[in-house]
Amino acid sequence: MKYDTVIQGGVVVTPGGRVRADVGIHGEKIAAVGTNLTRDANVGRIIDAKGHYVLPGMLDVHVHLALPFCGTVSSDDYYSGTRAAARGGVTTLIDFAIPYEGDSLAKAANNWFEKAEDKALIDYTFHICITRWDEHQGEIGSLVDSGFTTFKEFMIYAAEGWQSDDRAMFGTLELMREYGAMLLVHAESSRVLDELIDRHHTPELMEELGAQLHAMTRPNFIEAEAIQRAITWSEATHGQLYIVHMSTAEGADMVKAAQARGVPVLAETCAQYLVLDDSVFAEKDGHLYACCPQVKKPADQKRLWHGLKTGEVSVVSTDTCTFTRQQKAMWNGDWTKIPMGMPGLETLLPIVYTHGVLKKRLTLEEMCQRLSTDPARIMGLYPKKGAIRVGSDADLAIIHPRNRIKVDPSKMETNADWSPYEGWSLAGFSRTTLSRGEVIVDDYEVVGQAGRGKWLPRKTAGLRQ
Ligand SMILES: [Zn+2]
Repeated sequence: MKYDTVIQGGVVVTPGGRVRADVGIHGEKIAAVGTNLTRDANVGRIIDAKGHYVLPGMLDVHVHLALPFCGTVSSDDYYSGTRAAARGGVTTLIDFAIPYEGDSLAKAANNWFEKAEDKALIDYTFHICITRWDEHQGEIGSLVDSGFTTFKEFMIYAAEGWQSDDRAMFGTLELMREYGAMLLVHAESSRVLDELIDRHHTPELMEELGAQLHAMTRPNFIEAEAIQRAITWSEATHGQLYIVHMSTAEGADMVKAAQARGVPVLAETCAQYLVLDDSVFAEKDGHLYACCPQVKKPADQKRLWHGLKTGEVSVVSTDTCTFTRQQKAMWNGDWTKIPMGMPGLETLLPIVYTHGVLKKRLTLEEMCQRLSTDPARIMGLYPKKGAIRVGSDADLAIIHPRNRIKVDPSKMETNADWSPYEGWSLAGFSRTTLSRGEVIVDDYEVVGQAGRGKWLPRKTAGLRQ
């Protein structure tokens, strides 16, 4: 046998469970998982993984890089964003291509290709955002034919020109069923949300409550009502639905109930909803934590962890949308002007490993399922991505089970000059990351070249092919 690389002596997490084994790599693919692979073999490079876990590369399927939003542009682009990802053991990301003023869906996809080309260190693709149903619906079939199988609609953001109404969601879900594609939905109830924001938007309240108004104007029912409505349209059309960044216990309950009666709905949550609660908005610089939807209550965290364990929550992503302190300062005391979003790619795996696996909320295998295998399957990338098995891409993250690193933005790859987890001591940063057989992080430092990441065409989406 000939292997370009053998990862030797680690505890390898495979779809069948963990096993002490070597991983043999030939070209860009995993060629063998077994013991003593270096014996009688022609081996190019041996990577010592003794005392470490060898995990499938993680997928972050909800990311916004270089996104024009809230009057500015998110500050992690495909250069810094994919370097941050690699350091966190993420080897595939999915961004959202959003059409601007009169753009077609194809134009939006091209705009995002231009952002990624020459800069991406890891593999990537895009969800295509439908922002003007009447204009965009006729293009969906040709986008599916060209390798895009996931679409997105926003139930809010009228001011950004992105909002879809019930008619658009209903019609899109009918087409998702026809094409075997999947609709991702940002579920918040826009009319009542706008009413609550109007009622609270007074100089007196802003003076008194500051960034806490961000949470006070988005009570849980704002998300719950919208999730319920989206589920209704999925149930009526049998179109596959995926709730992005679900932050509430109510959402998890409704998704679970809908799945039990056969509705093709799936849900993702984000790392921040699992470990932060809305008491952060009362802190000094609490406005930094504004993201959309915002972090909720400890009871919601608990329910979302439970959902990851039992399956009604299939995926953890980050909704990375980085804004620096200077960008966040645009709020100037008015919470409706805070650029909404947080850095997250670099800390996804460390947060879920430290607060999930080490705190015994998830097993190591369950974590790999929710961060790698399930997102790969749901997004139409399995088995190329999402598993350590013969024939899959050699995308791997090698982590130490216990060694912790203190989160310090000045030492990270992200362009953010702050972190929601600043000062937290986290295990699970990637010692070695491989992407298609190539070492891109070595001894916790990024060593791979910008522009080596490839676009990933897809043929399917969802769990019901
Ligand atoms: Zn998002």
